[in-house]
Amino acid sequence: MKEKVVVIGGSAAGMAAAARAKRKKPDLEVVVFERSKYVSYAPCGLPYLYEGLIDSFDRLIYYTADYFRRERGIDVRTRHEVVDIDHSSRQVIAINLNSGKEVIVEYDKLVLATGGISLKPRAEGLDLSGIYTIRTLDDGEKFLKALIKSNTVGIVGVGFGGLEMAEAITKMGKKVVLIGKSDHILPMFDKEFIEVINNVIVNKGISLRLGEKIVSFEGDGHVRKIVTDKGEYKVDSVLISIGIKPNTHFARKLGVKLGVTGAIKTNEYMQTSVKDIYSAGDNTETINLVTGKPAYIPSAPTANKMGRVAGDNIAGGSMKFPGVVGTVILKFFNEHIGKAGLSYNEALREGFNASYVDISHNTRSHYYPGTKKVRIRLVFDLDTHRVLGGQFMGYEGVIERVFALTAVITSKMTVEDLATLDLPYNPPFTPVWDPLIVAASVAMRKLS
Ligand SMILES: Cc1cc2nc3c(=O)[nH]c(=O)nc-3n(C[C@H](O)[C@H](O)[C@H](O)COP(=O)(O)OP(=O)(O)OC[C@H]3O[C@@H](n4cnc5c(N)ncnc54)[C@H](O)[C@@H]3O)c2cc1C
Repeated sequence: MKEKVVVIGGSAAGMAAAARAKRKKPDLEVVVFERSKYVSYAPCGLPYLYEGLIDSFDRLIYYTADYFRRERGIDVRTRHEVVDIDHSSRQVIAINLNSGKEVIVEYDKLVLATGGISLKPRAEGLDLSGIYTIRTLDDGEKFLKALIKSNTVGIVGVGFGGLEMAEAITKMGKKVVLIGKSDHILPMFDKEFIEVINNVIVNKGISLRLGEKIVSFEGDGHVRKIVTDKGEYKVDSVLISIGIKPNTHFARKLGVKLGVTGAIKTNEYMQTSVKDIYSAGDNTETINLVTGKPAYIPSAPTANKMGRVAGDNIAGGSMKFPGVVGTVILKFFNEHIGKAGLSYNEALREGFNASYVDISHNTRSHYYPGTKKVRIRLVFDLDTHRVLGGQFMGYEGVIERVFALTAVITSKMTVEDLATLDLPYNPPFTPVWDPLIVAASVAMRKLS
């Protein structure tokens, strides 16, 4: 009999695991259960769809369920919700959400790729209609229907997702009230580095309310008002975007160990504590390569890579997922904002004897048309001189330096190593002293 793999969840991690396992070992039987009607989809593209840059939800699908069935030989079952797993008899029990019928499938190996669950504030009135969270394209479709009918939209959360949606919804011609509990936007950045973006937010007509705690949502069955500890805001719909927690429902039921972060603990082969059960994606803990400690830093690239590693090992491979340094890249109107590794405040919290330098430098040679400024905060350790992180902001020149710094941090290079790194030079692309090299040189002066 063919060896059988069941994957729960058909998004980034699940489909990467299924595809890799089947490609590496074509005689494996691979079944994927996915609750929503799409697999291999990109919720990350939703803000751009709302903004009008992308004309249909179908464009946000990498490969359809049909493609996986036909071309890859993977038995993909969309609109199937897994409701129970019995590991002693190795059975997954799912409900076909179209027919209501129960489906039982046996497995030899199981992948938990159930992703994350959107967090919600502790507030009254969460059950009113018109309040949304987004994880899947199905969620995105529902929210778009509400958006079209709304004049004013409340966004709760000033992180990455909240800002992206604030831009998109503003560009739809809607009024946006953006509310955050923290005292600055993008809390993974240092406040004094990032708060210049507040001006961009306000100049775009977005009402920014920082340091406000949601008390309740009020309405007549449908949400009409957001009440915080400092004010009240009339809205026609609400998007809650305050982060996610790992979906560990089945892990807990199966006795799979969770890590200190509350996400599923695996080894670097993505094996959980229970034999033949793997886990990957936004439900799974990883290692922060800067601190060496367990971390929960969910992201799409990490989910894909974890999934691929799980699939490879299920099919007899020995691929490893080492961990992450924590990278962020975001476009907010014309500003590009990026980060690799730790902010200064995160570094202090982690116990490093940290320091930083702030620089602003040309993105191209000073005489080359179109040169702009990129701002960099480089964070380093005063004892070891190791580069711990970098924050970047500018109209251009951000992503390439986030990429370079990610490699620098991963390989545990020092400020001195970075100052002599062989980065390329040509006037249309960089100045002869690249801004990263300038930041490292200024850091060296501080260290001496
Ligand atoms: C609007 C938006 C924008 C984003 N932008 C970015 C970005 O720019 N960059 C970035 O790195 N990340 C971004 N992300 C995050 C990124 O999408 C996730 O990190 C990634 O999708 C995680 O993949 P996953 O497979 O681990 O989990 P998920 O994508 O959460 O998928 C889990 C899947 O499991 C299914 N499932 C769960 N339970 C069951 C069950 N019992 N039975 C059947 N199926 C089940 C769910 O329906 C879901 O499809 C964004 C997310 C959103 C929502």
